[in-house]
Amino acid sequence: MKKAYIRDDRSPVPLNENVSRVMSRNKARNTKPELNLRRSLYAHGVRGYRLNWKKAPGTPDISFPGKKIAIFINGCYWHRCPHCELPLPKTNKEFWEEKFDKNIKRDIKKEKELLDLGWIVIVFWECKIKTNMKDCTNKIKAILECH
Ligand SMILES: [Zn+2]
Repeated sequence: MKKAYIRDDRSPVPLNENVSRVMSRNKARNTKPELNLRRSLYAHGVRGYRLNWKKAPGTPDISFPGKKIAIFINGCYWHRCPHCELPLPKTNKEFWEEKFDKNIKRDIKKEKELLDLGWIVIVFWECKIKTNMKDCTNKIKAILECH
């Protein structure tokens, strides 16, 4: 059965399918870069992490609650990746600027909350996972080994 597509009525109607597709992916869990990272961790013998653990501020994508390590995989578009600098939609510019601004502020807030509680926060950009999975995996392994 085809799933009904429910639009967030706060957002302006997207002008083209491309924008629409990106919008509906906003709160996606198990995104491709995340799955790839998990696969890589598994292949390197890393186990025992939680997915979307709600007891930690910001519900980290991957976390090691015992070691207080939180990992976020940020989509370049929604979290405004500084490496990619993806263009804003051409229409409703103000709306999007405000929305992205809120996303960024939310990211900063959840990171601060975690740090205040003694967590280690690791943020990976989607593009870095795509181009340099090895470094991302090694970084997590190194941090796990010394905590
Ligand atoms: Zn990026």
